[in-house]
Amino acid sequence: MKSIKIFAPATVANLSCGFDVLGCCLDTIGDEMVISLTEKPGIKITKIDGADLPLETHKNVAGVAIEALLAAYGKDIGITIEIYKKIKAGSGIGSSAASSAGAVWAVNHLLGTPYTPQELVKFAMEGEKLASGNAHADNVAPALLGGFTLVRSYDPLDIIKLHSPTDLVMTVIHPQIEVKTSDSRSVIKHKITLKKAIHQWGNVGGLIAGLYKEDYDLIGRSLEDVIIEPLRSILIPEFDTVKAVATEQGALGSGISGSGPSIFALNRGLETANNVADAIHEVYRKTGLDFDIHISRINNKGIKIIEEI
Ligand code: ADP
Repeated sequence: MKSIKIFAPATVANLSCGFDVLGCCLDTIGDEMVISLTEKPGIKITKIDGADLPLETHKNVAGVAIEALLAAYGKDIGITIEIYKKIKAGSGIGSSAASSAGAVWAVNHLLGTPYTPQELVKFAMEGEKLASGNAHADNVAPALLGGFTLVRSYDPLDIIKLHSPTDLVMTVIHPQIEVKTSDSRSVIKHKITLKKAIHQWGNVGGLIAGLYKEDYDLIGRSLEDVIIEPLRSILIPEFDTVKAVATEQGALGSGISGSGPSIFALNRGLETANNVADAIHEVYRKTGLDFDIHISRINNKGIKIIEEI
């Protein structure tokens, strides 16, 4: 039996202006998974620790993503999966994506890497489809490729890994109220004005240019969402206050992480990230709600091997 233990990272999708197309990978928060090849064909989830999630292969994103990979690989292989969940489901920092991406990455590694990380994205997207009804790639792509990623196109799938300036540090608050991806998708309007589209694609271009030029002011100016955030932010307590204190403490910009309820603030340097975390902590302490705060540099590698057994 061949086994691998991996770190499957949390991710921040959308990054304000890039709904469904931009995302980045975190370093200090993620799940662990142990994936093994077994003699007996079939996919089996043998353990889930830290969360109440389905053990049935077809109901768990990890199982569904591996099924998609094996359907393409064309061989009947035996696989067991153990999931040690640290990212809470429905948090908006890619809980389902970590399991989907981690599962296919580990199986691919155990099979001798028949697929590139880019090719693995489409298998992991099947897990996202199960979790939210929508096969989005903006969390699984950064989990698999690391750093910042762009989904240039969904059809055909075209995933680009972007440059990641080393000074960037994320502060993320996860208020512990559950906002299901499917619910937060339902508040979105499907038609937008040309004026808003122009504003938004200017920001997407600006953010990517800012990353490449390592122009932190440009990154900050571009972290603006005129389409989704005004509609979704009403689902998140103290959203405007959190944004205001983050700006006050020197964050480059802030917004909803994925479909929420987590809020991210992107900062230049660890000191600012810590100051932003303290200020957000103070805002949320007064609400009486439970919350977690994570501070993380951008993980430019993505999924990492903890141990090969
Ligand atoms: P997030 O944005 O934090 O990933 P989602 O709402 O997109 O949250 O996904 C969580 C949903 O996916 C939950 O309904 C959960 O039951 C389902 N799910 C199935 N398998 C897993 C898994 N292995 N890890 C996390 N969520 C899973």
